[in-house]
Amino acid sequence: MTTTAYPALRLRRLRQHPVLRDLIRETEVNLKDLILPLFIKGNQGQKQPIASMPGHFQIPLHLLPAEAEEIASLGLSSVILFGIPAHKDHLGSDSYSDTGIIQQAIRSIRAATSNLLIISDVCFCEYTDHGHCGVMSSRPGHRDASQMDVDNDKTLDLLVKQAVSHARAGSDVIAPSGMMDGMVQAIRKGLDAAGFNHIPILSYAVKYNSSLYGPFRAAAEGSPCFGDRSTHQLDCANAQEALREVHLDVEEGADMLMVKPAHAYLDVIYRVKQAYPHIPLGAYHTSGEFCMLKAAAEKGWVDEKKAAIEILRGIRRAGADFIISYYAKEAAQNHWLPA
Ligand SMILES: [Zn+2]
Repeated sequence: MTTTAYPALRLRRLRQHPVLRDLIRETEVNLKDLILPLFIKGNQGQKQPIASMPGHFQIPLHLLPAEAEEIASLGLSSVILFGIPAHKDHLGSDSYSDTGIIQQAIRSIRAATSNLLIISDVCFCEYTDHGHCGVMSSRPGHRDASQMDVDNDKTLDLLVKQAVSHARAGSDVIAPSGMMDGMVQAIRKGLDAAGFNHIPILSYAVKYNSSLYGPFRAAAEGSPCFGDRSTHQLDCANAQEALREVHLDVEEGADMLMVKPAHAYLDVIYRVKQAYPHIPLGAYHTSGEFCMLKAAAEKGWVDEKKAAIEILRGIRRAGADFIISYYAKEAAQNHWLPA
């Protein structure tokens, strides 16, 4: 009788004692692995609840210091910021103004607490009046507005301005999310030239053209007013192409990578981690993925705590080192996860 098969081998032995189960657990999610997204809008009034994202708000600037202190006191260590400007225009100029909403937000958090890593999302869709991720140009041979598209290379120049402005305000990590070709290289050069060669870039290297961003777009007020993002974001059917995107960003100097969404793209997270095991990898558990869980929990169809932890663990098990999660604050408040 072999000892490597039943009945000598009994895998259930290791599952009999809860401490033993803890001891042999391969993957854990800790609070420090989670990054909390924050939406900042205006400087007056109260926090505005986001209907499709229970527990999340558009936070006015004057309440941001208290919010940041609370987040830090709960044991969370990082936030990613999204600004909603009072004024939107064709170029999204608020995004690169030193007095823009996000620059004020960064300075405000920085002054309130030194215990939070500040990651700033760099894109234009929240800031442009058309809701697209950059400067719009006519496609060659077309003149009507429906045939306008984001002009890659013109957008790069403004992405650099935006990134440098965030760094000047005090951002710790620059996270370009617009899926422009060459964005990492351009931003790296721009940051270095402005004296910010110590600021890392977390690239949204693999961002799919997904239906799972809906509540976010409502929260960040960044829906495109015509067309979609299919000319720059990835087709959800493609995984090999994701690796080409990652390769490009690694070559351009990305310090960290991200896959978005997360839950529906675990295979992509796995592939990226296998291909680039030495590069820290994040995953964005998106608003759509979050609100599906929330809605099912509200109906009593899933145990929310168990389901959320299971999904976060799954994302880590697939290969993500850290997760942008709308559950971060709730998990901290309710002691769902170890520190
Ligand atoms: Zn965008």
